[in-house]
Amino acid sequence: MEINLSIIIPIYNEELNIKLLYERLYKVLTQMHVIYELIFINDGSKDKSINIIKELANRDKCIKYIDFSRNFGHQIAVTAGLDKSSGKSVIIIDADLQDPPELIVDLYNKYNEGYQVVYAKRRSRKGENLLKKWTAKAFYRILGKITSVSIPVDTGDFRLIDRKVVDVLKKMPEQQKFLRGQISWIGFKQIAVEYDRDERHAGKTGYTYKKMLRFAADGITSFSNFPLKFASYAGFIVSFIAFLIMLYALYSRFIIKEYVPGWTSLIISVMFIGGIQLICVGLIGEYIGRMSANIRNRPLYIINESNIENV
Ligand code: UDP
Ligand code: MG
Repeated sequence: MEINLSIIIPIYNEELNIKLLYERLYKVLTQMHVIYELIFINDGSKDKSINIIKELANRDKCIKYIDFSRNFGHQIAVTAGLDKSSGKSVIIIDADLQDPPELIVDLYNKYNEGYQVVYAKRRSRKGENLLKKWTAKAFYRILGKITSVSIPVDTGDFRLIDRKVVDVLKKMPEQQKFLRGQISWIGFKQIAVEYDRDERHAGKTGYTYKKMLRFAADGITSFSNFPLKFASYAGFIVSFIAFLIMLYALYSRFIIKEYVPGWTSLIISVMFIGGIQLICVGLIGEYIGRMSANIRNRPLYIINESNIENV
């Protein structure tokens, strides 16, 4: 039988949420009269998440799971789900119930109206600290300015995408995944559905600041060469300033002949130019690091076990 809807659920230490999530999903999906599959991707959880998933899978044939060999990160977990999904449409949803399963009805209705991407847009955002909200807002604003893809503000990965979009995503082999950017880049008919984002039901966020920073850097480097251009702009500006200083130094040395052994200006300019150089080398390094990751061409993820055939 053809599956209408695949639900992809990345799991990292969500033992307290999985059961309730399943119940809410089950209720919504049975009301919708669609043929569906739930794909849980256990991304190296350190708690009992995988046991709970397997228990559910024993009871319900619609449940599929992929168990990673270690933690590969949220975007990779979602990618594995996309790779193994077979539905004509696919929904990506968080396991912590911040994305209300009941919204799936609205997403699916829009899909039936003929949209290939229906993303859930947060009208409000509960239970997240100001720092996270501000940094997220600033990040998307900057990203919008320096890239050509426009990523809709206040959206995450909670969205429905058509099989056509999934097939294109599977052809984008980059190691650094920034799915919301890739989906915008792919195009097709896209629309937003608004919702109020809930608090995490239980447990704590798996997105540490370190993971968020890496995610942000992946987003920028995958879609923009602006930082590299910035390096050369900064180089020009600093060289120009250095040239002016040189003129001034020559002028004071030979024309007004009033010069002190200029330790201050010397040390300042050396430090300044040294700093700029290090920034530029670092920026280039960010890109080269990612390039070499792609050239090594390692598998994106390693599966320990799964109940999906042909994985
Ligand atoms: N997640 C994952 N791998 C990770 C971190 C998170 O699969 O390394 C999952 C997590 O279980 C949840 C979703 O990704 O289903 C979103 O993560 P989280 O709620 O921790 O992020 P936040 O909502 O705080 O941004
Ligand atoms: Mg969350």
